[in-house]
Amino acid sequence: MSAQRLAIKIDVDTDRGTREGVPALRDLLQKKGVPATFLFSLGPDNTGRAIRRIFRPGFFRKVSRTSVVSVYGLRTLMNGVLLPGPDIARRNAAVMRSVAEAGFETGIHCWDHVFWQDRLFALSEVRVLEEFGKARRAYEEVFGMPARTAGAAGWQANAASLAAYDAAGLDYATDVRGGAPFFPAVGARRFKTLQIPTTLPTLDELMGRPEYPLAKLADMLLARPEPGKLDVFTIHAEIEGMSMLDWFGQFIDRAKERGVAFVSLADEAAALNARRDAVPVASLDQGEVDGRSGTLAVQGARIEERAA
Ligand SMILES: [Zn+2]
Repeated sequence: MSAQRLAIKIDVDTDRGTREGVPALRDLLQKKGVPATFLFSLGPDNTGRAIRRIFRPGFFRKVSRTSVVSVYGLRTLMNGVLLPGPDIARRNAAVMRSVAEAGFETGIHCWDHVFWQDRLFALSEVRVLEEFGKARRAYEEVFGMPARTAGAAGWQANAASLAAYDAAGLDYATDVRGGAPFFPAVGARRFKTLQIPTTLPTLDELMGRPEYPLAKLADMLLARPEPGKLDVFTIHAEIEGMSMLDWFGQFIDRAKERGVAFVSLADEAAALNARRDAVPVASLDQGEVDGRSGTLAVQGARIEERAA
């Protein structure tokens, strides 16, 4: 019987998270010998414009729980409001490269996190292709090679973004919340870029809720009954890389004690792409996740393909 397999995906949302959270996570994961995939925001940091979200239902509940100001810092929240949004890749290229040099997989989170998260569904397919193209060019300038993977900001994905991935020829993407890896379909359209879903809740969805005491969170997250199953845990440079770094180190230790095998998403994707016929097709839908406001991409029903 094989052990639970767990892949770590790191979303990097902000300039400060790149500068401070990324090196901290790189060093911690290297010390513990745990692979991970770092997904970078490459363009302007307009986090301050997220203040618009205050007017959305459900936001205050989340703010009061996790205290956005203390997690992100006041300066981050002001980025793009009074200060011009810093160009994250240009300011932090050396830090980003150091992650790849340390042996970790890197990929694209977005060009402009706030814009993608707030506007994806209002954009034309051409405009989405342009926006993802900006991220691809910035990634290539930093790393000297094309990105092989992406995971969307705020789990915002649709037919237009999946088409942009297919055009980029990515090895795989990780945009959705769900179960086992699949090839996505939206309506009648089928896409060729493998999706590997995030299977576990994120820390910021659980933090501050009395039913999820911090001291028990690691065991709750790891209490999965399916040996051999691939679990994906998404963390944030701004949270697990900063104020929750000690917690994350303890989480890794606890996982190792429980016999969890840490695996790399790149390796998993290579194995799955080598036997694509065995990977199911499923609908990519929009749904809700406990502890997070708004809708996001979720894995929908499996689609049975008729034999060609
Ligand atoms: Zn993000």
